[in-house]
Amino acid sequence: MPDPLASVSDAAHRAQLWKIREWAGTPRPAQSLREDLQGFRGQKGIYKPSGSPYALWVRQTLRKVYADQAPEIHSDGSWTYKYSPEGRAGKIDLSLDTNRSLLRCQEDHVPVGVLVQKEGDAAGRTYEVRGLAYVEDFDGDHFILRGEPIDWDTPPAPGTQVPPFEPFERNLPRRTARFESLREPRFRWVVSQAYHQKCSLCELGFRIRGEPVGLEAAHVIPFKDGGTSRDVRNGILLCRNHHSLFDGWAWTIDEDLRVVVADDRDLRESALPNHLLALEGKPIPNLPEAPELRPDRAAIGFRLREFSQFWR
Ligand SMILES: [Zn+2]
Repeated sequence: MPDPLASVSDAAHRAQLWKIREWAGTPRPAQSLREDLQGFRGQKGIYKPSGSPYALWVRQTLRKVYADQAPEIHSDGSWTYKYSPEGRAGKIDLSLDTNRSLLRCQEDHVPVGVLVQKEGDAAGRTYEVRGLAYVEDFDGDHFILRGEPIDWDTPPAPGTQVPPFEPFERNLPRRTARFESLREPRFRWVVSQAYHQKCSLCELGFRIRGEPVGLEAAHVIPFKDGGTSRDVRNGILLCRNHHSLFDGWAWTIDEDLRVVVADDRDLRESALPNHLLALEGKPIPNLPEAPELRPDRAAIGFRLREFSQFWR
């Protein structure tokens, strides 16, 4: 499928959307957004550039009356987010210019940027750029925004439908460097969200100024073996230590999502003061609530075979 941005005819609008896509999943200081993003200096809520029928971005501040809702993540890395329309005298008014510009985006399938002020930052210094999203619906109270999947040139599966898991990417056409440079950070962001920014094994999850520290999105089927980065189900969030130990075959998970530790004397002696042995045979503690976001059995099976191979 061609990039949906290619059909946005206004070049300036398209360039701004590209920027938002490149920033997806990253925190940005409000100061830099004021400089680089059209309308950010003055406009809160929904921003529609004058002369354009389309909204360019929506922004959620912590001061907003409606509580911020965490995005719901889907296995292809897309996400849904509910956004309140603008009102007049406390009532939703869809005839307002701003609301109409979002409805127009829905009609013509033009994406908008989604920016959310970061929690724990009362000074309003930082926004998380969620990325580009399509207006999927208006449910009477909210616009339902659906974020681009990790692979932005594949449309997200409609509604709540779960796409089949494709473990390998070997047969994909060659990607441009620009595409690759966008994709891995998106994989990290969605895996991090799905696991609530905590190591799946030890549940470590420090944050500094709202940013998780020392966490990594590990591939269940390794990247070098063609394991996919397009699907959360080939991912698991681990702290740096447990990621190194996972990649070094010290441990793995079985198809019931229990912790398996290598049967190696030296490793086990060295692991005594660690979480690893205490959790052996037990369910891995931190997993996404939604079963369709957990590691896929096909991916786990592949890893288990490699694990046995390594210790044979
Ligand atoms: Zn850990």
